[in-house]
Amino acid sequence: MARCMQCGKELTHNEIGAHRKFINRGAEQFFCKQCLAEHLGVTPELIDEKIEQFKRQGCTLFV
Ligand SMILES: [Zn+2]
Repeated sequence: MARCMQCGKELTHNEIGAHRKFINRGAEQFFCKQCLAEHLGVTPELIDEKIEQFKRQGCTLFV
């Protein structure tokens, strides 16, 4: 199970997808949603919205 490189929280499939989408497609270490939001200077809610949006577009990084 992958863990957040910052806080150590276990990551969901979509959190890994979000990191790949927002930061680096080829990443091997990831942020959880909370840390990703902090890193990007946005709210975790916005990350959720974006994930939903990517899913609707058929992005394969998300389930
Ligand atoms: Zn984290």
